[in-house]
Amino acid sequence: MPELPEVRAHAERLDAGYAGRTLARFEPLSFSVLKTFDPAPDVAVGRVLRAVTNRAKYLILTFDDPDGEPAVHFVVHLMQGGRLRPDTSRARRPRGGMARWTFEGDGRLLLTEPGTEHRAGVWVVGGDPLEQEPLASLGPVATELDVNAMAALMAGHSMRLHGFLRRQSILSGLGRRLADEVCHRARLSPFVNTSALDHGRVSAVVEAISAVVAEGYAFDRGLDAMSRSAQRPSRVHGRTGDACPECGDLIRAVEYRRYTVHYCPTCQTGGKVLADNTTSRFLR
Ligand SMILES: [Zn+2]
Repeated sequence: MPELPEVRAHAERLDAGYAGRTLARFEPLSFSVLKTFDPAPDVAVGRVLRAVTNRAKYLILTFDDPDGEPAVHFVVHLMQGGRLRPDTSRARRPRGGMARWTFEGDGRLLLTEPGTEHRAGVWVVGGDPLEQEPLASLGPVATELDVNAMAALMAGHSMRLHGFLRRQSILSGLGRRLADEVCHRARLSPFVNTSALDHGRVSAVVEAISAVVAEGYAFDRGLDAMSRSAQRPSRVHGRTGDACPECGDLIRAVEYRRYTVHYCPTCQTGGKVLADNTTSRFLR
């Protein structure tokens, strides 16, 4: 799943390519894609795309009203494999198409999602998008917390560090890849409890977040389109069996039904190899 750095770089890419254009038409191409009914998306027709920005893993397309009415925002979540990209297909119903924005003159943006699960979504909101769903229920953006704010957030949520880092309602913007990478950079077990972290360790987490987000952002900014997951920079994520670039130990994995946690025993768990299933006493 694209996380904060990829979505931020993509927002900037779309902003550079599409801001200033007037919306001619919005078409939901999948019955499940539109998550709101009021305001109707057509209220943005005839308006100018002021900017494409992001909040955590969400893209925000903001359309201004020529008569000074409040702006209308399309908030887009790409989920796992979704993409928002130039529509060059010209097909009436493009393969994997979820929604399409057509601009006056030329230019179309297509939201696509491969497969059949179709979980990508579009929310149309008026007023301040941060005060409405889906953005209102997000926790603070991971990169916006200093060490004291992070310590306070951890104190309020006693749980495993890896879960804390990717629970969007607590801390937003990171996913499985960056949670793996943050734990490794901070030299902490993914399963350490947030309530067990002293000030120095919380500080290491804050610095690790800043470093991995900056690295991912720099990588994606250099591309013409959003990266694929396998391309993204990582030291441990998806590298089971590889040598840790810090210490040379083998990267290990703990498998869950829907995802995998990657870590380096030497760097993160005092050399201890964690048992590879969730029922193990190690993980309790
Ligand atoms: Zn290591």
